[in-house]
Amino acid sequence: MKINSPLEAYKYLPQTNCGECGEPTCMAFASKLIDRSGKTSDCPPLVKEKKFAKKLAELDRLLAPEIRQVTIGVGERAANIGGDDVLYRHKLTFFNKTKMFFDVADNMEEAALVERVNKIADFKKFYVGRNLLLDGVAIRAASNDPAKFAAAVKKVAEVGLPMIFCSFNPAVLKAGLEVAKDKNPLLYAANKDNWKEVGELALEYKVPVVVSVFNDLDALKSLAKTFADAGIKDIVLDPGTYPSGKGLKDTFTNFLKVRRAGIMGDTEIAYPIMALPLTAWMAGIADPVSASYWETVMASVFTIRYGDIMILHSMEPYSTLPEVHLAETIYTDPRTPVSVDGGMYKVGAPDKDSPVFFTTNFALTYYTVESDISANGIVCWLLAVDTDGIGVEAAVAGGQLTSAKVKDAFEKAGFDLKRDTNHNTLIIPGLSARLQGDLEDTLGANVKVGPMDSGRIPGWIEKNWPPKQ
Ligand code: SF4
Repeated sequence: MKINSPLEAYKYLPQTNCGECGEPTCMAFASKLIDRSGKTSDCPPLVKEKKFAKKLAELDRLLAPEIRQVTIGVGERAANIGGDDVLYRHKLTFFNKTKMFFDVADNMEEAALVERVNKIADFKKFYVGRNLLLDGVAIRAASNDPAKFAAAVKKVAEVGLPMIFCSFNPAVLKAGLEVAKDKNPLLYAANKDNWKEVGELALEYKVPVVVSVFNDLDALKSLAKTFADAGIKDIVLDPGTYPSGKGLKDTFTNFLKVRRAGIMGDTEIAYPIMALPLTAWMAGIADPVSASYWETVMASVFTIRYGDIMILHSMEPYSTLPEVHLAETIYTDPRTPVSVDGGMYKVGAPDKDSPVFFTTNFALTYYTVESDISANGIVCWLLAVDTDGIGVEAAVAGGQLTSAKVKDAFEKAGFDLKRDTNHNTLIIPGLSARLQGDLEDTLGANVKVGPMDSGRIPGWIEKNWPPKQ
């Protein structure tokens, strides 16, 4: 049984309100445990004092997610996968965004290998205030030669990204592990032929491992259970990813069945799932653009339905961009809108003649407006009004965006339209037009209604700025 309310978690805490965890009370800390923004190890008395040892163990057990969380790699870029508690995002949230690993082969020329690995490591896409990254490198032992594989691993390990070692040959996997002992790579994979040797490697080197049985969930579960009984905790499931036709339909059904069983309490199969969209390249699609497209379609399907980690091939922007955007969107916590800090922002180097806009602090709105303005070379002041991360239209309707709120935002930002501009004019979003009169009274300023869509700001500015006296 799991606990899901702060009150239940509170019972296991020392209840001294000592504040060592950074929270004023144990109850506040209990709330952080429930929403997973805090860990039991953040409460020093609970961890250090022997009398709490039993409670700590029990609390850890009760807080553990239904689907085991597995970590691949080490350091800042280590990738956590799994850790989910629900089948549907709206019931809570999904944790640990799908991790995207891109393949390299150990028989590539060294320069090409290094170039591709650097491209994976350097990928960065700015999106609503954060950088979307790729997560790791899957090294395929195309040569099946332990020495060649070890050399490729050594090279890839230099960039510090998490790695997956791909081979069914235990000797090859062992050679890779020998040169990357401390990097915590994921072994892909143990199957019905090599499970004994690969299981021993996972135990000896204390690394996570994929158990792989194509399209046979009973056998997959049995292999996972065998590993768990042997003391291997960090297991990832590969039920097989078929790229087309009935096989793809079976794959989809298998992912649903495995995750449903795991969430419903079948601990023997409650592990993260691996999808292999790169099998799109084996679907007999001759044209590389179409194969990339199909790979992206498969990646999208398994991002939405329970792929916790995937191996991909195409690194074309038309593949990677939709993949990383979709994962970011699906794994955004629906309970807390993504927001920016309220306050006055400068776009370019504005002065007293520059226009002043406002929008809300909903990150998607703010960054859309900001990029529409800056991309068109408009230098201005942009006030982000704190509406608890709600967009303009909904915030006006819900009362989170009012003339008083806007006035308050100006005051908090220390910005006075009369003093800090020569025009005493505010441009408001078209979707908040109904606030115009109120704002004029509250701010004592001229208020102009801008366009409904920030993409039209450049045209609007051309016609309406500077304001006529
Ligand atoms: Fe309570 Fe532990 Fe935080 Fe102290 S450190 S306030 S005991 S939760």
